Amino acid sequence: MISALWWQPAYAVTDPQLEQQVDTYLLVLAEDPEQAMSSLQALLAQVHSQTPASTATRIYGSEVLHYVYTGEIEQAEQRLTDLLQFANRQDNADVMAEALAIKIDTLFYQNKLNEAYQVVVDIEPYLEHTVQPRIRYYAHNLIGRLYMRDNQFEMASTHLYKAYEAVNETDNDRTLLRRTFLQSQLAQLQADLKSWPTALELAEQALESASQLTLQGFMPDLYLLKGYIEGESGQHEASIATHYKAIEWAEKLERPDTVLLSLNNIGASYILMEQYEQAKHPLQQANELAVELNDEYTHALVQLNLGYIDVMQDQHEQGLHIMESAIQYFREHGRKSDLERFLTEYAKALQHAGYHIKEAQILREQRALNQELFQTERDRTLAELQQRFQARDQAHRINRLEQDNELQERLLENNRLQNRLTMLIAIIVALTSLLMWLLYRKVRHANRRLKEANKQLEYHSLRDPLTGLYNRRSFQQRMAKRDLHLHSRRYHSDEIDALVLIDLDFFKQINDQYGHAMGDDILIEVAQRLTDSLRQHDQAIRWGGEEFLLFLHRINATDLVSLVERTLYQLSERPYISGTESLVVTATAGFITLPFAGIDEEKVNWEKALQLADMALYLGKANGRNRACGIQGLKVPYTELPEGFENDLSQAIAQEHIELVTIVGPQVERIS
Ligand code: GH3
Ligand code: MG
Ligand code: MG
Repeated sequence: MISALWWQPAYAVTDPQLEQQVDTYLLVLAEDPEQAMSSLQALLAQVHSQTPASTATRIYGSEVLHYVYTGEIEQAEQRLTDLLQFANRQDNADVMAEALAIKIDTLFYQNKLNEAYQVVVDIEPYLEHTVQPRIRYYAHNLIGRLYMRDNQFEMASTHLYKAYEAVNETDNDRTLLRRTFLQSQLAQLQADLKSWPTALELAEQALESASQLTLQGFMPDLYLLKGYIEGESGQHEASIATHYKAIEWAEKLERPDTVLLSLNNIGASYILMEQYEQAKHPLQQANELAVELNDEYTHALVQLNLGYIDVMQDQHEQGLHIMESAIQYFREHGRKSDLERFLTEYAKALQHAGYHIKEAQILREQRALNQELFQTERDRTLAELQQRFQARDQAHRINRLEQDNELQERLLENNRLQNRLTMLIAIIVALTSLLMWLLYRKVRHANRRLKEANKQLEYHSLRDPLTGLYNRRSFQQRMAKRDLHLHSRRYHSDEIDALVLIDLDFFKQINDQYGHAMGDDILIEVAQRLTDSLRQHDQAIRWGGEEFLLFLHRINATDLVSLVERTLYQLSERPYISGTESLVVTATAGFITLPFAGIDEEKVNWEKALQLADMALYLGKANGRNRACGIQGLKVPYTELPEGFENDLSQAIAQEHIELVTIVGPQVERIS
């Protein structure tokens, strides 16, 4: 079973045309059961997969009840099982409530009250959510009647009033009929409770409703009920009149049972009013009718009443004899409660006739019976109540267990979902981490490559592509840095650097004679030889074409001369080999210290010094090449030098302004 918490809200989708046909079927059923069967068949034939579940349930339910009424119980149970399975699949409170109500109806009809009560427990939660008033009416009415059967009047009235409320929500062909039926049920209930005024009021309301119905089947029994209520509440004359109306209707509708009971009740009312003559006529009529109808029980009752009248009219022997026979009948065939009541009447008659010994005997019988009745009645009631209570309790427990199980299932399912979610999150986290790591690695790799590329770029921007030596730009940067250092600290006399500018001799001819490729190879080799002759912090630069510059870091005058000399030798002593060719190349150099002759570099900066070195190189070229000319110092103070002296070095030498040293290269056979 499903708990109320998880139902879909009920919605009332019905097929109005089919519903109308079911209403008609029910009307026909009340009047002509045979014909009803064929209209039920017609209805069943119209149900298909698209029929709204609610309407289908109502039609299937009608079929179940049809088999119940015709006593084909096996068929009924088979159809009921199918119906309940169908209803279970729908997940709709209306459908479920109606199917379970059909089950209660089936069990109730077979007098299986305990089982019916168990289904009441099942149906209750669905009923709370049932939308269609027709279904609420049907179910509550059934449950109400079930409780009524059990003399549980309060429970009965609760359900019957709920049914009554549901009926008042409807307004269709069957509304009035249902209202009438409920009013008569409620009147009966109040009569059972002996609340005569309420019972009477309800009976009158029921009659009022019934009179508006085209179907008049209610009228005789309602008048009979009303007459009975009036009689019991002491309104004998009204009771007699009402009973005559009951007879009138019963005759019209051919209901001799009701005629018989009404005639007896009229007689009883006259007896209670002590109008024995008037009582005789209806009782004699009743007597004949009872014989005619072969109704022994009512016949005995009528006989008892007639005998009583005889006794009261002082025909003691005759009357008591009739009464004794009737009592004997009840002793053998009657309900003990009825016998007990009738014994009281009999004792009254015996008292009236003065048969006191017999009277005492009957009273003893009556009392014993009363006690037995009380005892057995109480035991039976208690036992039954106990059984019902247990059945209800058990059904509740089963329900609760089922709900607990369902809850447990749901909790487990939730746990499972939660675990799955956790797994999923873990996988996502793992995948994301992996992705991030891969991305990180890629970025790191890219960064590294970028760094390398940058390094390469920097390398190439600072290097000469042919020889791999530093280029002019790189040297300028180094000098700019050096200038910054110079400005931040005072110069030290032994912190002297030097610049050596070297130009290869007759290189144009080498190119012309040996080809440009040979020229390139020589340039590469020259660069290598220069690098080999340098110290750790020195630097060789390709200054342009076949010109090279050496920057010598921290060098004294003697070392400078020997390094320059060694360089000239390195360059020219060994021939340059390219392919099959071998060639000796010489070079001419000009060199100078930095700072020059102790003069502040702000006055003679590296560029000016280099210009002087270039002039010295020019002198070397002019004086036969394969040599190095170094400007070593000034013979006059710098301030006394003429403007632009560095542009005409030969003049300065001639005027003995500067000190020049010449280092001659090795004696070699070279191109010229
Ligand atoms: P000198 O310096 O002894 O007076 O004579 P020179 O022939 O070397 O004269 P100059 O300096 O005027 O000529 C330099 C030549 O060097 C010109 C050019 O063809 C050559 N040269 C410059 N750069 C390269 C180079 O990268 N590769 C080659 N193969 N030759 C170059
Ligand atoms: Mg040159
Ligand atoms: Mg040259």
